[in-house]
Amino acid sequence: MSNLRLRLLSYIIMAYMLMAFAWWSLLLFTKNKDAFYAKRDLMEIRMIAEGLVKNDGEFEQMADYQELLTKYKRQERMIFGEACVFVITLLTGVWFINQAYFREVRANQQRRNFLLSITHELKSPIASIRLVLETLLRRELPKDKANQLATSALKENERLYELVENLLLSAKLETAYQPHFEQLNLAELLEDLMAKLADRHPEATIALEKNDDFPTVKLDKQGIISIANNLLENAIKYADGPPEIEVRLSSSEKTVVMEFADKGTGIPDSEKKRIFDKFYRIGSEETRQTKGTGLGLYIVQQIVKAHNGRIQVLDNQPKGTVFKITFTVDG
Ligand code: ADP
Repeated sequence: MSNLRLRLLSYIIMAYMLMAFAWWSLLLFTKNKDAFYAKRDLMEIRMIAEGLVKNDGEFEQMADYQELLTKYKRQERMIFGEACVFVITLLTGVWFINQAYFREVRANQQRRNFLLSITHELKSPIASIRLVLETLLRRELPKDKANQLATSALKENERLYELVENLLLSAKLETAYQPHFEQLNLAELLEDLMAKLADRHPEATIALEKNDDFPTVKLDKQGIISIANNLLENAIKYADGPPEIEVRLSSSEKTVVMEFADKGTGIPDSEKKRIFDKFYRIGSEETRQTKGTGLGLYIVQQIVKAHNGRIQVLDNQPKGTVFKITFTVDG
């Protein structure tokens, strides 16, 4: 049954339950009222026969009648209260079930997207490496041409390696990741990664900005490499034209802040929370232009969390995105 039909059916059942309950409550109200009038009439007749009262006015002053009236009002309030509690409980329950159901539907959609993209991500480098190797085997090529082909195969191989690394890391992050803290020269490490990235993407401008006396900090080296590589790769992937990236490092007595700013497509506010979900990618598999698995930012967030750090997504000015990571340092 399609999602829409299921949703419609659940709304119909809910509407029916609410209407049925409203009907039963109304019936209970009426019966309660009828019972009250019957008791009241009987009491009045008895009192008139016994000569205790002469008319309605005198009867309504009697303590027995007042007690009957109070009891009736209490019962009316009780029925109304019960009805409210039931309706609120029912609606809250249905709301929670709906939320859980649609979360599951979204997760399934993401898993499907992931399978589609991972198949593509694995197939295309394997196919191009194979093509290069076949060409090298079959033909005698001039050295520079052979070198060019081998370099492109190496690049594809590197992509494949990074993909597998990310897959392994995301599995590890859920079970066995323990940051191994060591004194790091963060600026040097980032410069090194940026230089490697610039080699692979000569069209990109990548700059580092930091204060002169930026200290060494205790962090997990592999974790930081993974964070920086994922954020830098994304800044290249989602650039709108030649990539312009700025990495900023700053520190205070208690914190170290790393910022990765790009001038790319930017991330709409409505997506800023969800991009950290596992396998989540903006848009749909059919319309998306870029390659990816939706694992990068999930990995980044998990590593930041393991460092007790904080990650924020901000808009860059005039356009693009800034990923800001804040680590707290001891002493
Ligand atoms: P992937 O890049 O494999 O899709 P990520 O988890 O790294 O997965 O990113 C999730 C989504 O967030 C991406 O699909 C992309 O739409 C968006 N995104 C991430 N980084 C940027 C960025 N620097 N600029 C614009 N969009 C980004």
